[in-house]
Amino acid sequence: MSKNHQFETDAIRTQISSTHAQEHSTPLYLTSSFTYEDAEEMRAAFAGENDKNIYSRFSNPNLQELVDKVCLMEKAEAGYAFASGMAAVFSTFAALASAGDHIISCRSIFGSTHTVFNKILPKWKIETTYVDIDKTEDWDKAVQTNSKLLYVETPTNPAVDLIDLAWLGAFAKKHQLILIVDNCFATPYLQQPILFGADLVIHSATKFIDGQGRVLGGITVGRKDLIDEIYAFSRSTGPALSPFNAWVLSKSLETLAVRMDRHCENAMKLAQYLEAHEQVAWVKYPFLPSHPMFEVAKKQMKAGGAVVSFGIKGGLENGVKFLNAIKMCSLTANLGDSRTIVTHPSSTTHAKLSEEERQKVGITAELIRISVGLEHIDDIINDIAQALKTAL
Ligand SMILES: *Cc1c(COP(=O)(O)O)cnc(C)c1O
Repeated sequence: MSKNHQFETDAIRTQISSTHAQEHSTPLYLTSSFTYEDAEEMRAAFAGENDKNIYSRFSNPNLQELVDKVCLMEKAEAGYAFASGMAAVFSTFAALASAGDHIISCRSIFGSTHTVFNKILPKWKIETTYVDIDKTEDWDKAVQTNSKLLYVETPTNPAVDLIDLAWLGAFAKKHQLILIVDNCFATPYLQQPILFGADLVIHSATKFIDGQGRVLGGITVGRKDLIDEIYAFSRSTGPALSPFNAWVLSKSLETLAVRMDRHCENAMKLAQYLEAHEQVAWVKYPFLPSHPMFEVAKKQMKAGGAVVSFGIKGGLENGVKFLNAIKMCSLTANLGDSRTIVTHPSSTTHAKLSEEERQKVGITAELIRISVGLEHIDDIINDIAQALKTAL
């Protein structure tokens, strides 16, 4: 690993060593276990006295390359790669929280993370209090003597709200909370929460890290002492990423910077187009001056990201007409793909929340989320324009 290169170079030049065949591209280590020269080397591997791999549930060269890369990109000390973003979220909380511990989380979070906090962690008496991301003046009240972990997504899904990461880092420090940031929407290219005091960063690698809608993956990176606990938990419980998916994801990171530049350029143009459209009630995009946290966005993000949300005039009825009229863009639950994706969160990804919970996080029936892809911007805008026209 080099410590002197720029972000783009680390993303390309961080490679595990090649085999005797001297591959230029990293080979795929499709093996469940690893062998030893003799009994002593094997004993030392199990005792943790050498850095030999043992079993792919514990470690594998392809996973190591992915972890090394994301650590460099996020300025993190260590990490562990998981089979999905949710495996990363669940394992991180299960490893760090014990019965009686308390979590503070922003209210607007990914739907399945909400289910983990509301339905799964309470089985082990780990309770969560939600706070509004835009009402930080109330957050002190959420802190209890047993509070241990603080969790946020910024920008949030699907409302694209932001929090000031510098403020958040100071808040976590003041209350001695372990700060965990889901950095999925921003990617390490646009935002590095550890620089603002985050202890751990989580990614659903399924999204922009893969970027082409092929594989699932997740990763947690950050403080070495915390990653050691997450590793100990995961090594025995088995949420590890497959070597093949790790290989795909590591390759994908080579193009993250160029892809994100284009994603952001396209998203900005679409956001401006929507903002000027008479059938659109409102648009949320971090780099639009109309975003309530525009100044904060410019301070902590390199660009606004790929996700634009907007409210269509005429509410649910016109929203359904709009979705049915889409021709080129995809109607699917994913995001962070080279293909533009249109979703209606209140009837799909966030349908499990109660109506009251949805209202609280701003997921109204009129909200439409667009994950802007890498097609030519004129074709994206043309498709959205004709669908809006049909929805009149
Ligand atoms: C998709 C997503 C997840 C979960 O990731 P999977 O790879 O689908 O398990 C977690 N957080 C955010 C913000 C996401 O968008």
